[in-house]
Amino acid sequence: MPPPPHSHLFRSQTLTPLLRLRPSSNSSPPPLWRPRRHLSACASAARLADPLAAAGSATPQQPVLGVEEAVVGFVTGKRKATEVAHAVWRSVVQKGDTVVDATCGNGNDTLALLKMVADERRQGCVYGMDIQESAIESTSSFLQMAINDGHERELVKLFSICHSRMEEIVPKDSPVRLVAFNLGYLPGGDKTVITVPRTTELALQAASRILSSGGLISVLVYIGHPGGRDELDVVESFASSLPIDTWVSCKLQMVNRPIAPVLILLNKK
Ligand code: SAH
Repeated sequence: MPPPPHSHLFRSQTLTPLLRLRPSSNSSPPPLWRPRRHLSACASAARLADPLAAAGSATPQQPVLGVEEAVVGFVTGKRKATEVAHAVWRSVVQKGDTVVDATCGNGNDTLALLKMVADERRQGCVYGMDIQESAIESTSSFLQMAINDGHERELVKLFSICHSRMEEIVPKDSPVRLVAFNLGYLPGGDKTVITVPRTTELALQAASRILSSGGLISVLVYIGHPGGRDELDVVESFASSLPIDTWVSCKLQMVNRPIAPVLILLNKK
């Protein structure tokens, strides 16, 4: 599928030069920049067929789950970790909040977050980022198709940037209620472009700094691909290092399905 038009792609003008920075070739910095790649048509087509269902929003076929239903569904093998994550986000995020999607990919989480923050006064805001320009285009195209209300779409600001640099995007005076990570590679996309431990760790540190009191960092870690377990180690080590007087760190993991994704939730008291 050809890349969608860019007319609806929101990007900070002041950040544009910054986003074009590449790491120098004679050192080994974290991969803050990745070459542009394209997503497969089938993944996008399947998702575009039912964007609200993909985003975890209510449809006649798929009701919005409460936390209790999602957790009971998870422990009985009927619901996925992503559904638990979305249910927890819904219980934490309020209309008008500022939230961050640190790994936009195809935009499913971005849309779900937009539905949580958008209110009639148009005050919520979703800052979305992805290291792949093609993922940002895919997210933008998905939102364009899924949302009829142009004002609502303007609540999403998308950036092609490494999530370790999220503090360069989110205004300092915006209290952030949620930072969501969906790690690994983009299903239907280029499997060589994956999140990596070093920048994930830097991004978690940045997220912990911009999060407001009462806010949540949500990390879904995929461990079935090479490098996935190393990334889980880094996320767990970060989660364990958080002081207990100001943070609650917890993990939701299938014990007898060793490669099932692991959900880590970090609540700032
Ligand atoms: N939440 C997405 C799926 C994300 S898949 C959805 O709902 O569709 C993981 C994404 O992380 C991929 O799109 C990949 O390009 C992106 N990614 C990899 N490394 C990154 C980095 N350092 N910073 C930001 N995004 C990154």
